[in-house]
Amino acid sequence: MSDEQTLRSSLTDEQRSTLEKRLVEERQRVAERAGRHDDEIASSDQDGDLTTYPLHLADEGTDTMEQEQDLLMRSRDGQHMALIDNALRKVYKESDRYGICENCGRDIPYERLEMVPWTRFCLECVTKE
Ligand SMILES: [Zn+2]
Repeated sequence: MSDEQTLRSSLTDEQRSTLEKRLVEERQRVAERAGRHDDEIASSDQDGDLTTYPLHLADEGTDTMEQEQDLLMRSRDGQHMALIDNALRKVYKESDRYGICENCGRDIPYERLEMVPWTRFCLECVTKE
């Protein structure tokens, strides 16, 4: 970490914009999948005949839905989305740092970024864990 050179990504602008595009596409895909999941929760809720429930039970139903939403955010899609957002923020705000391993500060090979553009670590640091 003493060498300042290693803190700058050696990605070319073209490579970075390719990865940026992939991140945006992937984000859309995850969002769509999560959206479908939302619909499933909503429609399954309608299957239960809420009108016959006493009022306080209906309220509990709302709580359950919020819990499910909460769960969704902590699900794989939610975590994946957070990683993608994180990477995109980096691309836009600290583009020099994008593509740098957050653990050892070395360049993450472009081939790896192509496969997992939202990764924060190089393969060595990931496999060490
Ligand atoms: Zn590393």
